[in-house]
Amino acid sequence: LKNKAYLAEVFDSIQGEGLLVGSRQIFVRFCGCNLRCYYCDTQWQKKPQFAVYHRPVVGGPAQMLDNPVSADQLKEILTGFTPRWISFTGGEPLLWHEFIMELANDLKAQGYKIMLETNGTLYEQMDKCCKLVDVVSMDYKLPSATGCNYREEHRRFLKAALKSKVFIKMVLTARTSWAEVKEAVAVISSCSQELVLYLQPVTTDNCADKIDMKFLLDIQEYCQNHIPETRILPQIHPYLRWR
Ligand code: SF4
Repeated sequence: LKNKAYLAEVFDSIQGEGLLVGSRQIFVRFCGCNLRCYYCDTQWQKKPQFAVYHRPVVGGPAQMLDNPVSADQLKEILTGFTPRWISFTGGEPLLWHEFIMELANDLKAQGYKIMLETNGTLYEQMDKCCKLVDVVSMDYKLPSATGCNYREEHRRFLKAALKSKVFIKMVLTARTSWAEVKEAVAVISSCSQELVLYLQPVTTDNCADKIDMKFLLDIQEYCQNHIPETRILPQIHPYLRWR
């Protein structure tokens, strides 16, 4: 499957999170993930029979693609979209890093810019891809979200990703604790204090999962002492009622 991948969907929208919020992008959503965050809204089947794509704009007619999709097929589909930014997202796109590497070489030659949205754990794969990626959006996964501590993976991942432009998102919920925030800040600031850290209050319909506003602001103040550019930015799609 080196040059084929299981895709969930391909669509055109605006980026709803982080450094490039508001940027018009083509989203290529890969299937499968190596983590299981309790708040995940993208628990895509590992190998669905079809991927769905919408062309040319948000809300365009849905069309079906047989999975797995080849790199050539995907390149052809991308020519029907207008944005010049492509976001590889998931699931966890680095599970398909060989496919991404093959594709990204050609896409870069055609003038596309590439963003990678990743859970920040697959450091060996990141190391191989970093020269082909313009911006890495790395999630720092707190143990309260995944049930595991990925501190070492995140440290190694960040070192690899820093060869490219990288920013970090940290989703905060009612389960977030001071201890895990402090540990995360120590890991991140030991790699770099120059990057932008986005604190993202979880998007959920369940009020019990939402982080307390005062706690959120206290966390920001703490983080800013170690990572000066720490910003609070919720996902904007729920406010717009967009996907
Ligand atoms: S890393 Fe992302 S895709 Fe994977 S389980 Fe967590 S939220 Fe879902």
